[in-house]
Amino acid sequence: MLHSDNKSGRGGKESWKMFAAKILYFAYFLATCQSAFIGPKDSKCGYESCNPVKDDMINVHLVPHTHDDVGWLKTVDQYYYGSKNGIQNAGVQYVLDSVVRELLTDPTKRFIYVEIAFFARWWREQHDSMRHLVKGLVNNGQLEFILGGWCMNDEAATHYNAIIDQHSLGFEFLRQNFGECGRPKIGWQIDPFGHSREQASIFAQFGFDGMFFGRLDFQDKNERLKNVTMEMLWHGSPKNLGVKADLFTGVLPNMYQPPQGFCFDIFCSDEPIMDDKRLHDYNVDQKVKDFIKAVEEQAIHYKTNHIVMTMGSDFLYQNANHWYKNLDKLIEYTNRLQTTNNSKINVLYSTPSCYLYQLNRADQVWTTKSDDFFPYAHQNHSFWTGYFTSRSALKGYVRETNALLQACKQLDALAMLEDIHNSTYNIQILKEAMGVAQHHDAVSGTEKQAVADDYAMRLAYGRSECKKVMNDALGKLIPKGSEGFPGLVWCDMYNISSCSFTEVNKQFVMVVYNPLGHSVTRWIRLPVVGKAYTVMGPYNEVIETQMSSVTDRTKDIPERNGSLAYSDLIFQVKLPPLGFSTYFVSMSNSAMKKKQQKPVKKMLKGNEDFVIKNEHISVKFDGRTGAMKSMTNLASGRELDVVQDIVYYLSHPGNCSKPEFEPSGAYVFRPLHEKPETWKVSYPGDASQGPLVQEIYTKFSSWVTQVTRVYTGEKYTEIEWTVGPIPINDKQGKEVIARFNTSLKTNGKFYTDANGREILERQRNYRPTWKLNQTEPVAGNYYPVNSRIFMQDTKEDTQFTVMTDRSHGGGSINDGQIEIMLHRRNLFDDCLGVGEPLNETGADHKGLIVRGKMYVFMDTVANSAKMHRDLGLRTYMAPIPAFAKTDMKYSEYSQYFNTMWSGIKSPLPANVHMLTLEQWGGPAIEPAATQPYLIRLEHFYEKGEDAELSQPATVSLQDLFVPFNIESVEELTLGANLPKSQLNRLKWKSQDKILTDKQNMYMVENRVPLTGPLDITLTPMQIRTFEVNLKNGKPVNAADKFSVFS
Ligand SMILES: [Zn+2]
Repeated sequence: MLHSDNKSGRGGKESWKMFAAKILYFAYFLATCQSAFIGPKDSKCGYESCNPVKDDMINVHLVPHTHDDVGWLKTVDQYYYGSKNGIQNAGVQYVLDSVVRELLTDPTKRFIYVEIAFFARWWREQHDSMRHLVKGLVNNGQLEFILGGWCMNDEAATHYNAIIDQHSLGFEFLRQNFGECGRPKIGWQIDPFGHSREQASIFAQFGFDGMFFGRLDFQDKNERLKNVTMEMLWHGSPKNLGVKADLFTGVLPNMYQPPQGFCFDIFCSDEPIMDDKRLHDYNVDQKVKDFIKAVEEQAIHYKTNHIVMTMGSDFLYQNANHWYKNLDKLIEYTNRLQTTNNSKINVLYSTPSCYLYQLNRADQVWTTKSDDFFPYAHQNHSFWTGYFTSRSALKGYVRETNALLQACKQLDALAMLEDIHNSTYNIQILKEAMGVAQHHDAVSGTEKQAVADDYAMRLAYGRSECKKVMNDALGKLIPKGSEGFPGLVWCDMYNISSCSFTEVNKQFVMVVYNPLGHSVTRWIRLPVVGKAYTVMGPYNEVIETQMSSVTDRTKDIPERNGSLAYSDLIFQVKLPPLGFSTYFVSMSNSAMKKKQQKPVKKMLKGNEDFVIKNEHISVKFDGRTGAMKSMTNLASGRELDVVQDIVYYLSHPGNCSKPEFEPSGAYVFRPLHEKPETWKVSYPGDASQGPLVQEIYTKFSSWVTQVTRVYTGEKYTEIEWTVGPIPINDKQGKEVIARFNTSLKTNGKFYTDANGREILERQRNYRPTWKLNQTEPVAGNYYPVNSRIFMQDTKEDTQFTVMTDRSHGGGSINDGQIEIMLHRRNLFDDCLGVGEPLNETGADHKGLIVRGKMYVFMDTVANSAKMHRDLGLRTYMAPIPAFAKTDMKYSEYSQYFNTMWSGIKSPLPANVHMLTLEQWGGPAIEPAATQPYLIRLEHFYEKGEDAELSQPATVSLQDLFVPFNIESVEELTLGANLPKSQLNRLKWKSQDKILTDKQNMYMVENRVPLTGPLDITLTPMQIRTFEVNLKNGKPVNAADKFSVFS
């Protein structure tokens, strides 16, 4: 997302000699490449295809590359075609056209390509002859796919499930079209704004040999340059996965830009190399001198006699000749000095993996790192911690859509759908939309408003296509015989009590699908118009219900767009693992029913505290304001003062002219004052008590409200917050936070999750690997809160945990306190390229209202892991209700249709999650007659978190599924593009002695023999990926799913 200036120029004309040489090489290439793309055996991709180096010299690896954002200032499709060039002159199709032509002229030239969302668009448009040529370039290592995800994903706001999926999607495209030579070997996160340890762990599990990135805190970078530790071994999972999650990681010298003076793009204004002495302005000597100076300066800070230079930037290489012509000369004239001046500098065309290979050959001992690279600041006062929360509604939508995609893939697999209804194709649309949405200017919230709208539209379209698949699948799984099942309808706006189906129908069935491998219960809130309803369960049992009025606050949300519902019908559903339960809902006229279901409304009294409770917890509120005061865990009897409110920081204004004038914007969070603003008037609270749920309504202001709920039987308190429209008539941007002030003694420590998985310890005003000079006491202590944040008082053995339903920024600015940023609206652009203030205005253009949920609990440290692991899983993989109209009585319905069904014969162990279940890709990795399935099993506890659940767990796959039996399985790498038995990662020597597992140290991962009936054993935090062949499965799917783009 680097801002590149838009000065245009024209490329010089090729000399006829050069042109003739190109034609000759092109002809030679055509003649030879026929054999080059048959398979890896005949080809020379990978490390052995790298250009030669000279071991007694400084080798300068020039890496020609383009950084193509999958949406930012323009949408992904506008970037592809190069439309709307008034916004940014960028067209990826021209980059690929141009680069391929150049590579074909000279076998020493190299290029890397990264974002498969773009490459796949281009590939679809090419004729067979061009595809053959490109395969040849891939097979001889000239064109190398690096990273290979659908996009280069953000690392702060992304969930691990979506990260793994978006990479698998890109990998599968490359595997189908390019085979082994298309398999990416390393990670390339050159632009994301800070780096997560979980991302490193995932990359290691993909089998990557290393990763390079561009952005880290400027203080950290200065230290690393000084100490020559820009390259290191990163422990991605030091506590759980050990060496298997270690990743060699390099920080690039100049982010991802060329050295100053050497940008040879049509959009750069650096001087070309003018090498004809007969002409004016001959500059070879000066250029080479400048270049050697840049080389020497860089080499001081790197450990080996190899350095890397990134020759490219955002959307560059639309005219690749411009680059290569000058790079050719740079290489030639610099290397010529080796013979004329005894120079020890050797310049070559290279790729990041060829550079990495030389680092490995250098056989150095590398320093290590066990924490992460958050938060990122590029100068004093400029912490990129605002984007942890920017576009909170989009972040919520992306997280929720992940659950729908998983359910869609699972149902397609469980119903063994054949492709008559295009299910593969329809799922692909949502996969691609989710792939695009993980980009570092998508879910991060740092794109222009029009592009954010485009991401949301793609997700909405993908969801509607996936619902067709779910409809087909459930249409197959629900009927007991040949009786056809009516089409199902899904609703997407329960959060604002809007669902036209449940509003207009007086009698219907609700089929709720559970995407988890465990039985779960879930509270359902259906938007309805009637005063009373009867709900019967899957065995015709009466289900207890409660009504709750839709508040005026909700009714005023413009996105409800005329929704009729004025109540939510509340009841609990019980669901089998990977299956569904059916509920029968009908409007009732019974006066008795109306009375039963109506909760008691109470106005809180000023002078009395008010308590809501169930059998596990009790929460006390201030009667004057409805604000939380304390929380009691009834099992332990522990009461903790918890004063909770929602307040806001004023955003710092500024014009970015110096660090002191840095404003808060889409990327940067910078509060004007250290202390947040509080409310001047207080509003009386309200309560509603019924048999199933007790609720407190708190109004902090006209635009900040919340409902705090305690449901029967649950050990957490739910807080549903509603923030917006954030007023800006005072010309002040605002950053709204939820605060929890407790009496816990926390010594500056708190804990946050990385991408929804492992927990990292945080310490206020402290970084584990360098001495921090803190310039922003609030923003500089913010971290990504992907799904949870907690703090502990070890003396009192108490943990206070807050779970979230989407990614936020958060921290603990004072001891015993947690804050989470919920929503933000700014009036200044932070001058980092997006060119717009983050000012979401919503459907009525008055300011976007965002609503979300947090789940809060307090328990002993030992009990808390089970709570947050279980609740974390249930939150991100929430059950999905669907509806159908029916006039049938229960007896009739249950005669024809399953009212409860599970896809597995027994639930998974309590610490194992089925991360993936889907019909997989195209041709199987190993030849197979039937369509392979992909299954990922995950142990979702860390070592030592829970006495029982942190133990290893075993799942027997063979007899697990109801609809099918498994014939054979093959274990793959996490990205599902290589049999694990064929994985061979590079081996590195590191300084520390943390890991002593010498035997397994980066050696070939031997095939793990499966014992007995396909028993799969998992250790804490382990994910195992299997390609599964079914007994009597359907024939291999021939559909070319990669011809679809969303
Ligand atoms: Zn970018």
